[in-house]
Amino acid sequence: MPEGHTIHRLAQDYAAAFLGTHPRATSPQGTFAPAATLLTGAELTRTEAHGKHLFLGFRDTDWIHIHLGLFGKVTFGPAPEPPPTGTVRLRLANDTTYVDLRGPTTCALITPPEKQAIHDRLGPDPLRGDADPDRAHRRITRSRTTIAALLMDQKVIAGVGNVYRAEVLFRHGIDPYRAGKDITPAEWDAIWTDLVDLMHEGVRNNRIDTVRPEHTPEAMGRPPRVDDHGGEVYVYRRAGLPCHVCGGEIRTAGLAARNLFWCPACQRP
Ligand SMILES: [Zn+2]
Repeated sequence: MPEGHTIHRLAQDYAAAFLGTHPRATSPQGTFAPAATLLTGAELTRTEAHGKHLFLGFRDTDWIHIHLGLFGKVTFGPAPEPPPTGTVRLRLANDTTYVDLRGPTTCALITPPEKQAIHDRLGPDPLRGDADPDRAHRRITRSRTTIAALLMDQKVIAGVGNVYRAEVLFRHGIDPYRAGKDITPAEWDAIWTDLVDLMHEGVRNNRIDTVRPEHTPEAMGRPPRVDDHGGEVYVYRRAGLPCHVCGGEIRTAGLAARNLFWCPACQRP
């Protein structure tokens, strides 16, 4: 599943291509056709992301709510738009660009109050200027759940996925099995500040890099990581490999339905 930086990047890409224009909206696959008919020719006035949720604003009153889920894909291309292939749920097209959305979990026309209800049930998003990290901290300090599971809970903090949670815990030497209530305010501050920086860099580069300058392939004289997720990381999908910092073996285990990765030596209980 894409992490929050991907969705914020998509919000920027939709805005760059369509903001202030009146795109044609169609649903070649059919499911979104009634809403596309209502929206076609309306001005795209705003785009926004909150965690893994993408919002496209038309006029002042209509929002498309998109959640990619595990299989959703967005592809941009230059005009003229080709005939749609596969199951395109939503195509927007203007005189310069088209964009196809395929296979999302959610693609729905919603009202401003419905949009607000989605914001209300999500935790603060490190990529949003209006985020309140204390809101997440209050939930974490009340919880006996592991910090690794809490970081994946979108009601606690929005946009963090499996890669960022593993990497930020490594970067701060925090055992992923520690209970939320045992995370100190200073540790939470450091985690939040780091997520803000790392995730903004993720939006800029459209990939996740988390290693400090002294641990890049160039600095360490090691080959770059080969992985379809791209990016240089400390622990994510590095089970069995040596830790870039201590040389010990990176471990993996299932937690909160996803694989957790950590270095037991650098992240002691
Ligand atoms: Zn280590």
